[in-house]
Amino acid sequence: MDVSQNLTEIKANIEAACQKNNRNPEDVTIIAVTKYVTIERTKEAINAGLLNLGENRQEGFIEKYNHFGKTVSWHFIGSLQTRKVKDIIDKVDYIHSLDRLSLAKEINKRASTVMDCFVQVNVSGEESKHGIQPENVMQFIEEISEYTNIRIVGLMTMAPHSDDKALLHKVFSELRELRDKVKQRNYRHAPCNYLSMGMSNDYEVAIMEGATHIRIGSKLVGENM
Ligand SMILES: *Cc1c(COP(=O)(O)O)cnc(C)c1O
Repeated sequence: MDVSQNLTEIKANIEAACQKNNRNPEDVTIIAVTKYVTIERTKEAINAGLLNLGENRQEGFIEKYNHFGKTVSWHFIGSLQTRKVKDIIDKVDYIHSLDRLSLAKEINKRASTVMDCFVQVNVSGEESKHGIQPENVMQFIEEISEYTNIRIVGLMTMAPHSDDKALLHKVFSELRELRDKVKQRNYRHAPCNYLSMGMSNDYEVAIMEGATHIRIGSKLVGENM
């Protein structure tokens, strides 16, 4: 399938999900996750109008970045090793996987301007998932305030791989409630307006629960293309 055909279908689904709770589709940013695909296929995505790209590994990101540079916005969505921060820091526009203080410290040290970050939260409690436990998020964000090169723009989570809609609603609504709590504090370093949640299998539910950034790979650009 062409990326543009997939995109048309996904946009229709986004619109339908938005309509269910009176949201404006323009408030949902589609991040095309290009981690499985080639430069050629990525080019097709950009030509289809996808200007936010997501990569989850430093090597894959650098390869794509070397091709496309700053013509698009780059979202680093995978778990990030502290020692690799220096390789990506002034190239990415957003880091979605801030999940520990040691990482925050390194980002703060290496960034030459303020870095927009999402705090990754392990809402589902699955051991395999990265992220801060929900009950520790507020304290974590308070501790980040000393790192003046970090701005917390939102929260991010990955839901369990499941078709259980009720479970997905529960996970995503919990992240939204947590985001609302952080937002209410009016921290200068943590406006926390955004919710990065929803992937190929669950983005519609995520949108119904308030997602502002959905990260879609397989259903948009495909796998092994
Ligand atoms: C791979 C990946 C995605 C996209 O997954 P799909 O199911 O292919 O849409 C989204 N978020 C993260 C963090 C990922 O690693």
